[in-house]
Amino acid sequence: MQDIDVGEKALASYVALRIDDVAIKQGCVGWIDSKDRTCQRAPVPDAMLCKRHRNVALKREQKARIKQKEQADRTKAYRAENLPKWRAERELIEAQMEHYGSPATNDRAAYGGATHPSIRRKQLQQLSDTNVRRMADLSQRWQRLTELIGDHT
Ligand SMILES: [Zn+2]
Repeated sequence: MQDIDVGEKALASYVALRIDDVAIKQGCVGWIDSKDRTCQRAPVPDAMLCKRHRNVALKREQKARIKQKEQADRTKAYRAENLPKWRAERELIEAQMEHYGSPATNDRAAYGGATHPSIRRKQLQQLSDTNVRRMADLSQRWQRLTELIGDHT
């Protein structure tokens, strides 16, 4: 097994169910479903597969490569398309976080001065709870966007 090239081993994995020394000694490791055993024909020199199984494996490898490339291209295109949107949304969120993160007392004027202190305390408390929830949501979204943008160090 040690004299078999890594590329050939990878190739064999496209048609073999398992690759072990016993199977290799018997010949081609390509799996034949209908016979429920390995192919066992004489392998191509320096390979683990017979000519037929090697051709099948080459085709499957090629297909897998194309699929990988397509997936990578799609991911790249999706990223390129969405990056400006993600950045813009993150900036908006940062502005909101700055706004809501400011002390609740700054908003006290909105309730007027004539409110009974206990009611005002309640109002401020509610405001604060809402703020905490809102900040948690914003922070979560900010983290998700930063992951997508991928510029966090
Ligand atoms: Zn074979």
